[in-house]
Amino acid sequence: MARIESRAARSQRLGTILDRLAAAYPDARVGLDFTTPLELLIATILSAQCTDERVNIVTKSLFKQFPTVHDYAEAPIEQLEEAVRTTGFYKNKARNVQLCCRQLISEFGGEVPRSLEELVTLAGVGRKTANCVLSNCFDIPGLTVDTHVTRISNLLGLVSDQDAVKIEFELMKILNSERWNEFDRLIINHGRRTCIARRPQCDRCAIADLCPSAVQKP
Ligand code: SF4
Repeated sequence: MARIESRAARSQRLGTILDRLAAAYPDARVGLDFTTPLELLIATILSAQCTDERVNIVTKSLFKQFPTVHDYAEAPIEQLEEAVRTTGFYKNKARNVQLCCRQLISEFGGEVPRSLEELVTLAGVGRKTANCVLSNCFDIPGLTVDTHVTRISNLLGLVSDQDAVKIEFELMKILNSERWNEFDRLIINHGRRTCIARRPQCDRCAIADLCPSAVQKP
């Protein structure tokens, strides 16, 4: 593969990568369990520095214990802290969840807003969480740059940066917005199933011939 690749060529290669991954992971979906925008918003706040598997264990009982935005807003903070304790950084997360829900009530009529600009005004919500909610709840294009997307975008030579916001904007230049949501789901699934951190399975990777970081076994 040529060392210097034009943006157009990178864009074309990315299109082929997504086509291949779509065929490899037809069941690709977001890893967090949720049934409403509020649930995904809370789950994504809790997912910082925590695995989706752990968050799903916690939210299974959390969503029963706190079924509405008012339940989070009005709960004694100690009760909320205890409920999210095993996701780590639980004091911060509990505080953010409560502040976020109070903002939803006071500023958005108790509903999760549908724009990036509004979502990022909520406590504990950055671009990653906002894009995750937009794409998975409202089918609005949003590039969620998590650890898998950061790592694999660099391995694939699509970007050369570790900063999530810079990666997001760089990817926007080479990928049509119609494929942003698909990109996230596919790359995140690829990171979980094949391009696993520290032990990528290059020998059974569907995009090895398109990846400058592919390791061929002797
Ligand atoms: S070839 Fe290897 S490093 Fe490249 S995407 Fe596939 S698993 Fe990851």
